[in-house]
Amino acid sequence: MQVEISRRRFLQGSVALVVLGGVGGATLSATDLLANFQKDTAVPTGTIPTICEMCVNKCAAIAHVRGGIVKKLEPNPYFPKSRNMLCARGAAGIHALYDPDRLKYPLIRIGKRGDGKYKRATWDEAYAYIEEKLVKILDEEKDNRSCIAYCAGEGLGEHTYKTFMADKFGSANFLNHSTICLQTAVSGYTLTIGGYGLADLENAKYIIMAGANRAEAILTPDTMDLFKRTRGRGAKLVYVDPRFTNTAMHADTYVAIKPGTDLAFVLALTFVALFEGLYNKAFVANNFNDFDKYHKHITDSGYTPEWAEKITGVPADTIRTIARDFMAAAPQAIYYAGRRTTWAKNDFQLRRAMAIFSALGGGIDVKGGIVFGSKLPLGEHPATAPLYANAKSRLEKNAAAVIGATGSWVAFRNLVADGKAPYPVRGMFVYKQNPMLSVPDTAKTRAMFEKMDLVVVIDTIPSDTAMLADVILPECTYLEREDPVQSYAAIEPAIILRKKVIEPMYETKPVIDIMRGLSARLSQPLWEITKKYDEDVQTELETRSEDEVYTEGGYDLTEPFKQSQEELNKHMVVSKHGEEAWKILREKGVYYPNMQTYFTKINNNTYACYPEDKKIYSVLKTEEAVVGDPASLRRIFATPSKKIECFLGSMATKGIDAMPTWKDEEYVRIPKGKFKFISGRHAQFTQNSTQNNVILLDLMRENYAWINDREARELGIAFGDLVEITSSVGKVRIKAYPTPKIVPETIFYIHGFGSKSAALTFAHRNGASDNEIIEGNIEPVFGCAIMHDTLVSVRKV
Ligand code: SF4
Repeated sequence: MQVEISRRRFLQGSVALVVLGGVGGATLSATDLLANFQKDTAVPTGTIPTICEMCVNKCAAIAHVRGGIVKKLEPNPYFPKSRNMLCARGAAGIHALYDPDRLKYPLIRIGKRGDGKYKRATWDEAYAYIEEKLVKILDEEKDNRSCIAYCAGEGLGEHTYKTFMADKFGSANFLNHSTICLQTAVSGYTLTIGGYGLADLENAKYIIMAGANRAEAILTPDTMDLFKRTRGRGAKLVYVDPRFTNTAMHADTYVAIKPGTDLAFVLALTFVALFEGLYNKAFVANNFNDFDKYHKHITDSGYTPEWAEKITGVPADTIRTIARDFMAAAPQAIYYAGRRTTWAKNDFQLRRAMAIFSALGGGIDVKGGIVFGSKLPLGEHPATAPLYANAKSRLEKNAAAVIGATGSWVAFRNLVADGKAPYPVRGMFVYKQNPMLSVPDTAKTRAMFEKMDLVVVIDTIPSDTAMLADVILPECTYLEREDPVQSYAAIEPAIILRKKVIEPMYETKPVIDIMRGLSARLSQPLWEITKKYDEDVQTELETRSEDEVYTEGGYDLTEPFKQSQEELNKHMVVSKHGEEAWKILREKGVYYPNMQTYFTKINNNTYACYPEDKKIYSVLKTEEAVVGDPASLRRIFATPSKKIECFLGSMATKGIDAMPTWKDEEYVRIPKGKFKFISGRHAQFTQNSTQNNVILLDLMRENYAWINDREARELGIAFGDLVEITSSVGKVRIKAYPTPKIVPETIFYIHGFGSKSAALTFAHRNGASDNEIIEGNIEPVFGCAIMHDTLVSVRKV
């Protein structure tokens, strides 16, 4: 206990320095902190399974703890998905825990919004501040819950946060990463083949990866395994990108393409497959809907390789060869869907065209193709969601043809910032997301936040967005909390558990505890507002007691948060798989049926989780089986026609092309003297979770702007020169990297750099943020941000 107290005092000393300095200057390095922690030996020692949170992949890890200090993170071999690997980011996760800049206790703004001046507060004081503001806003807005918006980044705690903000608080205005990330890809594939699917890269013989830069953007264990099979070792990889990346280095064929022209490339591949009759005819006959219409559309439109060459810059012969080789390898051939942002206005049509082209080879729901995977069930925790009569529907619902449950970040932001929202949005809760760095047109995002009366940020670090908050609530890091148990759909399905490795440091809390505290504080005061303005509730109260309406109507906001996360997890697992499964999960961090007998060690680095004959490659129900020709099985796809949809009549009624169609007028041409700006990811950085990580910053301190070396010479720009890049919405200064590895008329730099938060010692102004210059435009189907169609000019400073 004494040691515990002394450690806390030490930590309090260090954080006080940060806050008194206006959250600007941490004075202790991570090494200093670690050295101090290492003196503490009175706390547990051992190995504890956890789940990495340094990117979206969620690899299983084992934390080695000695004397209460997390010394090392290692891979956990039991999780089939992560294949006994942990990448550089995963291993560097330890810095998220010991980052001297991390948020340590609640903070309340005392200066102007954005100037970084905060005072330390207790949790009670922070909750009281939020309560006072919320009561005032909801009273003035007559209980329109949607005047408080909320957003969240991807993570295991997202559902817990949503349970509070959507189900209990009742706001319709939710925004997550989907429309600044992969919504068009997910929806394009889902509406076409019934699911986004997984790529069985382990068994595919031919893979087209277009812009999905896996060696850098998502360097996950299966990426590493794939590269062991490329370049003459079993799988042919064709890589299409405006840049020659590290993925290109591992590919068998690299295809340089002009940004924004991928749809023309895929349509031409499809033309070759159809015109030359290379597609899988039995599969198509059994499984395609409106195939004849699509065949006619592609061939009549003249989407020939020669036509595509003029648009894409890819030689017609290369397109022909790729189409022929792909179909020859099919059905073990995949046009890789990727996890990407929306690039251009036609992105939804691009994803549809990719899915249809893949399906023409028959490689859907089969080994070596696109598979859907199976998922182990988990128990549920139902909570009653109250109905608020005055809560308005989401404000950007008409911004695109289909605005889904995760909204359209850019459309929402534009309406609020431009003062064009149909009702006032006066507050926002932000959890594990950093819109100031992740949403295009940073100046406009700032304008949106500046209009709000209440901004609450829940995070682990003082991000650029946190610096605009009225109240900052410090969440503990992923190594200090147990998160909701997760089940993953896969060829080798498994349930995983992120266990708490050490107790939360400082005064941080997991999001479930934060929601519990907030709900306890807000439940009664907000109920008073509902009683005052909600006529339905007033009518109900005429015949029923207040207690009944409050409790049974779900107005008691504390209801879902009464149990601990551990208790909730136990119920979810035991109710479906029994006590033994729970025991295994807690001990190993991973569970799947028959794990004890299936799991085998092959050598010191390699383990097998499922025997080959137990892996689940095909999940769709089939009919009309023809012995000896599995491709001719009729599969029941999860689409309206139960077949692969070539023609989407439902989209046509919304003014969207029913079939993938190239439209010249949608393509943004590059005027002389201008460039098209594109951005991407890096193998050691994943946005918010890595930006201040000194271990990773050792590998790359700042980002550089790629520019074609010939064009750089013409502009007098040499390596390391400071250049100014200007778009219609902003300008940045960044060092130049002239290189032949990027197509002309294109500028690139990596996302996730250029933070302006002075409270981030290591990330502060280390390069430039891409969203400072990306314009805030959306594509017309799902309202996704168009990330790669901004024109910029470049000059040497
Ligand atoms: S790929 Fe790396 S960063 Fe992502 S979850 Fe796995 S170990 Fe963590």
